[in-house]
Amino acid sequence: MSSKRTRNPVGGHVPVAGGLSKVGLSYAREMGAETVQVFVANPRGWATPVGSPQQDEEFRAACAAEQIPAWVHAPYLINFGSHTEATVEKSVESLRHSLRRGREIGALGVVVHTGSATGGRDRSIAFQQVRDHMLPLLDELTHDDDPFLLLESTAGQGFSLCSRTWDFGPYFEALDSHPKLGICLDTCHIYAAGHDLAGPGGMKQTLDLLVDTVGEGRLKLIHANDSKDVVGAHKDRHENIGSGHIGEAPFRELFEHPATVGVPLIIETPGGKAGHAADVARLKELRDH
Ligand SMILES: [Zn+2]
Repeated sequence: MSSKRTRNPVGGHVPVAGGLSKVGLSYAREMGAETVQVFVANPRGWATPVGSPQQDEEFRAACAAEQIPAWVHAPYLINFGSHTEATVEKSVESLRHSLRRGREIGALGVVVHTGSATGGRDRSIAFQQVRDHMLPLLDELTHDDDPFLLLESTAGQGFSLCSRTWDFGPYFEALDSHPKLGICLDTCHIYAAGHDLAGPGGMKQTLDLLVDTVGEGRLKLIHANDSKDVVGAHKDRHENIGSGHIGEAPFRELFEHPATVGVPLIIETPGGKAGHAADVARLKELRDH
């Protein structure tokens, strides 16, 4: 295995309807993925399915044998900052489920969106809810093979709790900088939130700011997506690598930054299997040459 692959495995989010291992891993192989991300529940629902022990074991064994780091993306409805009590309660159950399923399939981390302060309430109330309801879930991660909980910031729509790099500060504070807490940086989201990755040294500066806020070693995963919209547009519309407003050059910078050593890249781009395979190939090219 090349050292560049070890430094930054490149892969993507894969569909798993029909079997985590059977469908998910064959899709991953066809796209040339060195790392994979999956849903373990309907991303737009609250259901908490049990999964298939046989598919879990096959998936886990294959990822271990082929040295493919696996990740789980928790459902989109989760919002610990919601003013609706039922949403917060369901968020707890949904995230607990993703964390448990993450351990069962051998995932290294579970990505959750940072949410927003709905209902016109003060952000401090939302952060108190994050503390009251998310911190206990982190404290439950006591097994050796429990995944990290990775916070993914948003494009800064609405009353988002975390979109700029420094917004991770209060979030980490609310969660006592728990040792099982990490970050998933989505390049499209952080660009849409206002960090000009495409400007001179923009990627380096943004990664520097992130490390300044949360310290070294917290960046565990990167969602590598280009953006259909301009910097600061607050729009979450992913584009294929090099075809959007971010362009290819910042990704080259990303591969050279000390904060990304050992951090896998997952694409969540349009274009189906062919588009995904092309994006994985493009990122490997930028990494290896
Ligand atoms: Zn993402």
